[in-house]
Amino acid sequence: MTVLEVKNLQKTFGTIQAVQDISFSVEAGEVFTIIGPNGAGKTTTLEMIEGLVTPDQGEIRFGEMNWGKHAVAIKKKIGVQPQSSAMFDLLTPEENLNLFATFYDKARPTEEILELINLTDHRNNHVKKLSGGQRQRLAIGLAMISDPEIIFLDEPTTGLDPQARRNIWDIILQLKQLGKTTILTTHYMEEAEKLSDRVCIVDQGNIVTLDTPAALIEKLTEEREVRLSFIDGAAAAEEADRYSKNLDSVARTERVGTSLKLWTTKPEDTLYSLFGFTKEKNYQVEQVSIRELSLEDVFIAFTGKEWRD
Ligand code: ATP
Repeated sequence: MTVLEVKNLQKTFGTIQAVQDISFSVEAGEVFTIIGPNGAGKTTTLEMIEGLVTPDQGEIRFGEMNWGKHAVAIKKKIGVQPQSSAMFDLLTPEENLNLFATFYDKARPTEEILELINLTDHRNNHVKKLSGGQRQRLAIGLAMISDPEIIFLDEPTTGLDPQARRNIWDIILQLKQLGKTTILTTHYMEEAEKLSDRVCIVDQGNIVTLDTPAALIEKLTEEREVRLSFIDGAAAAEEADRYSKNLDSVARTERVGTSLKLWTTKPEDTLYSLFGFTKEKNYQVEQVSIRELSLEDVFIAFTGKEWRD
């Protein structure tokens, strides 16, 4: 079931075209991630969908509802992670949650939320004493307090250390188990790959590509990088390099000392042939690997640009 559909969204600030033409739809229960480098238009897209920024052009529909006619009903359906400045520093997480709960007719019990965001042990500490990761977890809890169907998280892990980021990932996975739909932005590829059902890669206000992480990576599998290293020294690697270059499936090779890298459209066939060759020559291969592709490779392939966090 489609819970959100956006069509041809556009937004310009002065001379900056923040969002040029963005269309996608989100299904119930999925983690849908918008990923892109700084300034790609992620936050602007999210804020238009959240009803915080008015689009210059385009349509936003939550099922049959739109912001023009059904703002009150949409607000009940969605949860938006507040900026940390919206929290009350001199109150505790529990008090913040209780206070936010008063803004809604229906609220999820504070106890449950504290558990979900793993702040039960810190429920009585002042927010100003919390770490960055704990504050971000509280922000997710505040987005959850009205028990919304769709939760928007804008770069919830930016600036956090790896452990704190993983803690946030756990919460996002728990939201999925609760049947919630999560719309996430990030500029961490690894995060998008780990958490998302579908990923929408944006760059300069446009969608570069959109699919499941596996399908995006699959699109690139035409050429894979195979690495080998030889116990018998550089001469063996050099001979194997010469041999590989003559194989039809090998597009190019690169050799450094005893290591050989080759790019092939048929990694298994290439390795069979190469192992036949090394056996015949009695060369011993020390290590062999076929490099896994990541969403980072997808971004580079589609935009021709290096990915920078
Ligand atoms: P980041 O990862 O840095 O948050 P982003 O992908 O979320 O980037 P946006 O924040 O949507 O990107 O910004 C897209 C472009 O629009 C940027 O060039 C930004 O400077 C510009 N922009 C965003 N909001 C405004 C605004 N209120 N006024 C002027 N320019 C803006």
